[in-house]
Amino acid sequence: MTAAPRDKFSYKVELHIHLDGAIRSETILDISNGDKDAVSRIAYEFCEDCSRSGIRYVEVRYNPHLLSNTLDKPDFARERGDFSPRDVVATVCDALEKGGRDFNLTVNSILCCMTHRPEWSAEIVSLCREFQHRGVVAIDSAGQDFEPGKDPLLCRHKKAFKEAYDHGIHRTVHAGENGPYEGVQEALDHMYAERIGHGYHVTDSPALYSRCKKERVHFEICPISSIITGACPVDIMKHPLIGFANDGVNFSLNTDDPIILDNDLAGDYVLAGKMGLSDEQIIKSIFNAARASFATEEQKKNLLADLAEVYGDY
Ligand SMILES: [Zn+2]
Repeated sequence: MTAAPRDKFSYKVELHIHLDGAIRSETILDISNGDKDAVSRIAYEFCEDCSRSGIRYVEVRYNPHLLSNTLDKPDFARERGDFSPRDVVATVCDALEKGGRDFNLTVNSILCCMTHRPEWSAEIVSLCREFQHRGVVAIDSAGQDFEPGKDPLLCRHKKAFKEAYDHGIHRTVHAGENGPYEGVQEALDHMYAERIGHGYHVTDSPALYSRCKKERVHFEICPISSIITGACPVDIMKHPLIGFANDGVNFSLNTDDPIILDNDLAGDYVLAGKMGLSDEQIIKSIFNAARASFATEEQKKNLLADLAEVYGDY
C-alpha cells in the first residue's frame, strides 16, 4: 500500500460510500445491466481502491435491485439469464470477502432502500436479515430527500426500518442533505436511525441540533460531495462542518460517490483542513467513524486498537 505524499492520515475509516458511485470508469463500460462477473469485479476492485487510499475499514452501500437484471431492465439484459437482487447481494458478499482478505481491510456492507421505490423495501430488509452473517450490517434509505407535507418515505419503507430495528440490523438514513432538517427528525423519530447520511440542514433547527449533540447522533459528512451537489454553499467557510467540529458534534468524513465526484478520502480531509479543521479534529473524526461504525464488537475493538497505535489516544 502506497499512500500519496500529500496524505498524512495513513489509516482511514469510511462509512458513507456508494458502491455504484465507486465503480472504476473503465469497468462501467464493461457492465451492461446486471451481470454476475461485472458485479463481482466492481466489488473486488472497490476493495483494492479503498486499500490504495489507506482505508482500512469501510462500510459500502448499494441498492441490490439497481445492480440486478430482473427489474425494469431491457430484454437484452434478461436474455443473459436472471440475476436477482438476492444474487447481487450473494455475489457482492463473496467479492468483498475475497477483496477484504486480498487487500487487507475490513469491509461490511449496507443495503439501500430507495425513497422512490418503496415497494423494494420489504425485500431489502429480508436480504439484510438473510446476509447478516455475511457482513451485511445495516439498512439505509437513499434517493430523493424528505419533503414536508409530501413524505416520500411511504409506509412500506418505514415498516422495513422497524423490521430492521426488531432484528438487530443497524439503520442509517440519508436526510437533511438537500432537503430540510425535518428529514433528520423523521429519520430519528420514525426510522430508528442510528446515523444520518449528510444531515447538513440540521443546523436550521437549533432545537434539533442541540438534541443531536446531546444524543450523540452520528453524521456521515461528505465535504466534497456536499459542495458539488449544491447541498452546501460553495463558500467553504460557510460549511456546516465547521460548526459541527467546533461544537463537538459526532461526525465522520466520507467520500459518498468517489468516481462520479472524482474525489478520494484524502481529498476530503484536505478540504476539511481548508475549512479550518485541525489535524486533531480530523483524527478525532476517524475515531468517531470507528466508534459509530456498524462493525462487530471484535472488529471494532481491533479497529480502535489499530487507530490508537497509529494516532495515539483520541
Ligand atoms: Zn450517499
